[in-house]
Amino acid sequence: MSLLDELYRETILDHYHNPRNQGVIDSATVEVEGVNPLCGDELTLYLDVNDNTIRDIKIKSRGCSINMASGSMMTEVMHGHPLEQAEEFVKVFKDMMLNKDETIALPEDMEDLEALQGVKKYPVRIKCALLPWNTLLEAIETTRQEAADGPIKGKTVTTE
Ligand code: ZN
Repeated sequence: MSLLDELYRETILDHYHNPRNQGVIDSATVEVEGVNPLCGDELTLYLDVNDNTIRDIKIKSRGCSINMASGSMMTEVMHGHPLEQAEEFVKVFKDMMLNKDETIALPEDMEDLEALQGVKKYPVRIKCALLPWNTLLEAIETTRQEAADGPIKGKTVTTE
């Protein structure tokens, strides 16, 4: 194992053992569940969105190390950002994870997430890494729909 692989592994294990922003937001403006049946990952994502900005974000998750670490790092990146910026972060992350041939450098705000690049070698595990991000996209979409149409309950995202 190279030094870089070792550092990546430490980052993932750190977030797995001490996941950031783990828990429930009682006053969440949107709450979406995500499931990855292939691995058994399950999570509920809570957002407190105000003035089109993510004021608070928490995840209650039960999943593998890749899933937990990815979700933990995602909450750190998203906190305090406008929804449009959050969508841009999702795009950057997904582009990295879905580009199998190249090693992609991420912007400074997202640097820790480079640790998940090793997962690209294992197509099944990519879904574990993407689940929190796809769930966030659904939560953003739900937020916009609710702004237009009123409350929506009980959304679930399933990875394909
Ligand atoms: Zn998993």
